[in-house]
This record gives sequence, C-alpha cells and structure tokens, in this order.
Amino acid sequence: MHINSNYKNISETYLFSEIAQRVKKFSEQNPDAQIIRMGIGDVTRPLCSSAVNALKKAADEMGTKDGFKGYGPEQGYDFLKQALADYYKTTSGVALELDEIFVSDGAKSDLGNILDIFSDDNVVAVTDPVYPVYVDTNTMAGRKIVYLPANKDNGFLPMPSPDLEADIIYLCSPNNPTGAAYTKDQLKVWIDYALSRDAVILFDCAYEAFVTDPKVPRSIFAVEGAKKCAIEFCSFSKTAGFTGTRCGYTVVPNDLIREGMKLQKMWLRRQTTKFNGVSYPVQCAAAACLSKTGLEEIASNLEYYKYNADVITSTFDELGWPYTGGKNSPYVWVKCPDGLSSWDFFDALLTKANVVGTPGAGFGQNGEGFLRLTSFNTHGNTMEAMRRIKEVFK
Ligand code: PLP
Repeated sequence: MHINSNYKNISETYLFSEIAQRVKKFSEQNPDAQIIRMGIGDVTRPLCSSAVNALKKAADEMGTKDGFKGYGPEQGYDFLKQALADYYKTTSGVALELDEIFVSDGAKSDLGNILDIFSDDNVVAVTDPVYPVYVDTNTMAGRKIVYLPANKDNGFLPMPSPDLEADIIYLCSPNNPTGAAYTKDQLKVWIDYALSRDAVILFDCAYEAFVTDPKVPRSIFAVEGAKKCAIEFCSFSKTAGFTGTRCGYTVVPNDLIREGMKLQKMWLRRQTTKFNGVSYPVQCAAAACLSKTGLEEIASNLEYYKYNADVITSTFDELGWPYTGGKNSPYVWVKCPDGLSSWDFFDALLTKANVVGTPGAGFGQNGEGFLRLTSFNTHGNTMEAMRRIKEVFK
C-alpha cells in the first residue's frame, strides 16, 4: 500500500485559521469592540421566495406516490438544463445543446473532478494570486504548475506570454480574489493561444452575475472559438445564494475534441460513474431562480451586494487608495496604504477600525501588499466599516 505522496506537497493554507486566531485574540483583549467582518466570501442574503417555494413544493411531491423521485439523471433534469440553456441565450447570446450542460452540487467539486479526464503530465497555468482550489487539486495529482503574475502592470489580468507552454489554463473572471474581469478581446487572445497548441481553458465564472460592463463577457462561450478549447464552470452559489443549498453547472461543448476524444463524452462517462446527481428539490429551486420572477428576485439580492461594493469603492476613491474589482465583482482588491504588508494592514484594520479583511498574501506571492474586502455584509455594517476606515486612515 502506498499513499498518494503528492498530498505531502500541498501547502497548508493557514489563511483563514490565522485570520480567525488573530480576530479571536483581539476580541478577547477588547471585549467591547464591535468587529465587522468584511473578509467573508460567503453570501448573507436569504434564498429568494421562488427558490423556497419550489423547495417546499418539491418536498411535498416527494412525499406522494405519484410525485416520488428516486435516482435522477446524473447530469441533471432536463427542466433545469433547459432553464440554463435559456439563461445562457438571454444573458450571453450563447446557444447550448442540453447534453453540453452538466448539473452538479457546485463549481468547487467540478473544478476538482474535471481533472479526472486529463493526463497527469499536463502543464497547468494559474494566475497568482489564485483561488487555491486550482493549485491544490493539481498538486494532489502531481501536475506541474506555472504561475502567471497578476499585478498592477497587467491590470491583474495576465495574458499569455510568447514563452508560455501550458496545456491546461485556469481563468477565473470576474476574479476571486482580485475582482478583475477579462474583456472579450482579452479572452479572444487566450482562446487563440489555447487553439494554437491544443490546450484547454478551464473557465470559472462563478461571479458572472455581478458583471455590469458590456465589454466583459459573462460566459467564455460568448467569444468566438471558445467552444473548441474551453470548459466553463458556474454556480448558483453567488448568483442565487446557494452556498448552503448546493447547485452548480459545468458546460463541456460537443466541439471540444482532443486526441480524437470528445471531452463531453469523457466527462459524461466520469459523472455517470462517480456521481449520482443533485437532489430533485434543489434542482427545482435552481430552476425557479431562473424563472421570470426568480430572476427578478435574485437580481434584487445582487443589487444589494453591488450597492455595498459601491460604498467600498467610493470610500477608496476618496482616500486615493488604488483598487481593482467592486465593479463586476463582489470583491474589492485594495493596495495596502503606506507600503504596509498584507498582514500589517490586516492588523491595522483590525486593531484601529475593528474591521476584518483577507490578506492578499494568502492567495499567492503577488497578493503581498494587497487586501481583499467583500460586499457580502449588510448595508449597515458596510457603511459603518467604511466610516471607521475613513476616520482612521484619512
Ligand atoms: N469558484 C470560485 C472562484 C469561487 O470563489 C468559489 C467559491 O467561493 C467557487 C468556485 C465554489 O463555488 P461553489 O459554492 O459552487 O462550490
């Protein structure tokens, strides 16, 4: 028996436990401090009524002889796949076949599981800073990873350099943690790069619903050529507050063929072998979010977060602090003032303003000197946090 020794190469992410420890210590020493958490990546608005009603109705159906459902199709019920196909059509003008859409319990699982269909000797490119899941899942498989620096010079949106030799490329747009988002023209450059060397782009658009800039596509498939080189991962988590309800979807185009194999067929084989589908009530709730009323309801929750993002970015504008994000994203990635390191700024914010952010250094080398704030708190807390920041750092 041998263990997968690649697990020894996964760096421990102390980030969130270190944050929790520092906050705990500070609040023990300062029991009266009203701490505001602006580092959270989880949503706070409740599920919309359409989703709740659909969950209840489906639960009632499951308790009847005629309405009971056992195993469903592993790749999702047609009613949800059709709703998703319609959503792609209206939001991005993208036409999808139903068999290209795979419903899952969230983007994180699919982002990890997709690696089953790729050989371990592929070279993987990720941006730095990065959503850690891309790095850890590939480290577990022993793949070589190259890091593309995302910094001020490239607007936190790395492009392929002439010497880049990558087989699998992760692009997250709008980005976690930087909030930066690729335009259609920039994605076209990546698509041409991938096509030129038969590489595959794994496109994570978990935050597509936050896009407001018409130059920023909400799906990579809105860009010509993408169906021949990209797989897209998305989720109801941030769009509809499903972080605890769990539903996501992955699109593997029928035109994506490598070494004579259809990747759609390989993913279908993988999913039917290792996955037994998302529960019927959850799929009903997800479909309800995509109904006319559901879309209006989730839009109002998204507006709530966007308003918070505006409050944060206008504060940074006033303070003259450079930042990215907040516009097409719930994340605001701010340069630490006075040349402070990520952790020094974290401590200053915590101790002087009683506000908690996420140190950028926790997302990769290039995150040093930055801090991530999110718009997922309440209006009241967001405004109070910004008032304190202005007072302390003016
Ligand atoms: N992709 C990115 C970039 C994320 O930030 C997250 C969650 O924070 C996910 C994927 C995971 O989403 P899900 O809840 O669908 O697993």
